[in-house]
Amino acid sequence: MTNQTFEIGSRTDAIPIPSHTPIGVIGAGTMGSGIAQVAAVAGHRVKIFDTQTGAMARAIESIKAALRRGIARRIVSEQEALAAVNRVVPVMGLEELADSGLVIEAIAENLELKQDVFQGVEKIVAPDCILATNTSSLSITELAMALDRPKRFVGMHFFNPAPLMELTEIVSGLATDPQIIATVAATAKAWNKTPVHARSTPGFIANRVARPFYAEALRLLSERAADPATIDELVRESGGFRMGPFELMDLVGNDINFAVTQSVFRASPGIESASSRLRATSIEPGEDFVCGTSTGYRNPVGATAERFPARLALFPD
Ligand code: NAD
Repeated sequence: MTNQTFEIGSRTDAIPIPSHTPIGVIGAGTMGSGIAQVAAVAGHRVKIFDTQTGAMARAIESIKAALRRGIARRIVSEQEALAAVNRVVPVMGLEELADSGLVIEAIAENLELKQDVFQGVEKIVAPDCILATNTSSLSITELAMALDRPKRFVGMHFFNPAPLMELTEIVSGLATDPQIIATVAATAKAWNKTPVHARSTPGFIANRVARPFYAEALRLLSERAADPATIDELVRESGGFRMGPFELMDLVGNDINFAVTQSVFRASPGIESASSRLRATSIEPGEDFVCGTSTGYRNPVGATAERFPARLALFPD
């Protein structure tokens, strides 16, 4: 991939974080488990932390399942897969991340929550530990403002599913040290990713470009132009996209995608689209919906209207 803006990360003197250095991952959901897998396959010992009961066990199970698929497809050997799983260690508190050389946060898309977590981490890790966020849209500059050492703070934006998607946006805030950007980019390369440098702007590159993709699909739906399956099929089969907009929203998780849309629009009101109102009315925070199904498009058999109210919001008839 050519990337003319990546002059910093392309520095030839950049050395990746060595594989014997432990990596901390905070948040063991969709992205945290994928990132932990990537780092573990690259040879790092990974300590993963989550506040939700059962989340870390689920993450380990999902890593095992993904690696089993990798073995079946001959992407990894059985020994490599077993060694990688054994390198992922669930931990019960942030203090256990003290020896990490890089901590990657992948918790909810919420500025205050993330700042809180990083303030806690900063008190625990060594001064040269790199702090990275997997945020999809929040300002790296603003997140770093809560820190004593904002120079070591960077965005390391993996895409979903992290083990399969090669693109990783390396996002610099105003205070980020160029050497940190270079080290993180070199590390992403060592993890078989394609790092692309983006300065911290609302949505960075990929998520900014993707907003109208989702928004216009939602607008089409609200105008009842076609149902989600038809829109997806057309975009996929005739447009040449790997996935349609509704399939992609389901994969990302509608709660996460909605938070990203809100964050991008809030930071850059000029790009807001009327269709965001549909999102706002259909998926209110705290509403009882299940991640990945709120478009109502792929509700599991037996789903009830009570459990999937967003479906009613989108299809009132
Ligand atoms: P998720 O809901 O699947 O997982 C988040 C996890 O964080 C949950 O298990 C939750 O219990 C945990 N958590 C919440 N607060 C915590 C805290 N204070 N300390 C420790 N753990 C905590 O979310 P996700 O889809 O993995 O997204 C995580 C981040 O990655 C978000 O910032 C999101 O924008 C970004 N991201 C998501 C995608 C995607 O497609 N889902 C893609 C790229 C980036």
